[in-house]
Amino acid sequence: MRLKRASAPSSDHATDTLSPRATRVAEHLSTLVQIPTVAPASARPLTDDEEAIFTRHRATMRELYPHVFEAGEESLTGRAGLLLHLPGASDERPIVLMAHQDVVPVPEDWAAEGWEYPPFDGVIADGRVHGRGTLDDKGALVVMLDALEELLSEGWTPPRDVWLLMGGDEEQHGASAIAAVELLEERGVEPWFVLDEGGAVASQALPGLKKPLAAIGASEKGIITAELSVESLGGHASTPPRESAPGVLARALVAIEENPFPVSLHDISVEMFEDVAPHLPIPMRTVLGRAGKIRGPLARVMPRMGAELAAMVRTTAAITMLQGSPAQNVLATQAKATLNCRIAVGSSVAETLAHLESVIDDDRVTITVLEGSEPSPVSPTRDDVRWHALVDAVAASYPEAVTVPYVMMAASDARHVARIAPATYRFSPLAMDKTQREAIHGPNETVEITSLERGVNFYRALLTGPALN
Ligand SMILES: [Zn+2]
Repeated sequence: MRLKRASAPSSDHATDTLSPRATRVAEHLSTLVQIPTVAPASARPLTDDEEAIFTRHRATMRELYPHVFEAGEESLTGRAGLLLHLPGASDERPIVLMAHQDVVPVPEDWAAEGWEYPPFDGVIADGRVHGRGTLDDKGALVVMLDALEELLSEGWTPPRDVWLLMGGDEEQHGASAIAAVELLEERGVEPWFVLDEGGAVASQALPGLKKPLAAIGASEKGIITAELSVESLGGHASTPPRESAPGVLARALVAIEENPFPVSLHDISVEMFEDVAPHLPIPMRTVLGRAGKIRGPLARVMPRMGAELAAMVRTTAAITMLQGSPAQNVLATQAKATLNCRIAVGSSVAETLAHLESVIDDDRVTITVLEGSEPSPVSPTRDDVRWHALVDAVAASYPEAVTVPYVMMAASDARHVARIAPATYRFSPLAMDKTQREAIHGPNETVEITSLERGVNFYRALLTGPALN
């Protein structure tokens, strides 16, 4: 197929100096960004229009990556998932590489949200590819597929089976990834090594850290989405009762915010601090270098240093949706709030609910769990060959970066696979500064083209390095 260079402005000087290879990867990404693979929120089947978009996305991947799709055996899973089996020299210790095809929606009036370029045009400009999905997660999808396409076209045979799991509704609870995992189980596949999205090569990651931090998720927090509801008799707003349903609910919500979950510093976070410490200036170098010895005090001080550090040491509860009466002058017969909790590794769904019940301490508030998933098992790091394979691949593609393990706070399809795969890692080999990290799920999502090329180098190093061979 002819690759359309999406409406790039003519003043596009930064792109001119890129290698043909980097330009090719950027064009692949631009092409896929132009297919708006937004998965519907509910678990309903796709409409014909939605189906057509995902079908086009798969067809385009086949055209862009002929060697990969010729070598692979395809299975469709769930609503829009794709599992591709690339047979290797051995079917022992199979590798699963993951990246999801779906993206989060953009508001209808995206310009008002502040988008510099249309979100689904895949504009290539200023040395970057712009648009929804460039970081989450089509950037990672493209660099994974480009690396495999290069290797296969060079005559490479995977030393062991490689399974590509490309979810179609990761942003909507990942039913297609769950279906893919069931298929792997049915076929008796026990993944030895799994890599999905998650951490990145993050610049400006910690105060005082000059080097980029390649943070690789070794576990991820659990989730509870719960609805809190209070019923009351309603009536007319001219004669309100002493306590209303919204009032009772509001007290419960304040109690949740005023009684945060207990803090503790997980082994993975200790390892992260100890590994990054030598690259930090004094006194942080000294303090974090002793993280294992001062975990208690460190866990207590971190929540005071910002929301991100707070989320590292405890289960969090975010109040997201609120609902009361449907009219100005009508008392609410029911008040509802939605709570989105992220469960710390080491805690559990049951422990989280018990904490909520005890701080709310009011029988009139009903807690209904809409979705609950436990924190993921912790994958091996320091002493494991698979961890070293990742460290080596980062060193080959981003030699200036410091690689550390961390606990991922967001949720990904990896959590479904972690159930059958004890070594599941979460990392996208893409450079992201603070602005880029904040643009994920927001306006102006964009990736640097040089980083895409380095991402391809990462996957090549990973697949051909000694550790996984
Ligand atoms: Zn994602």
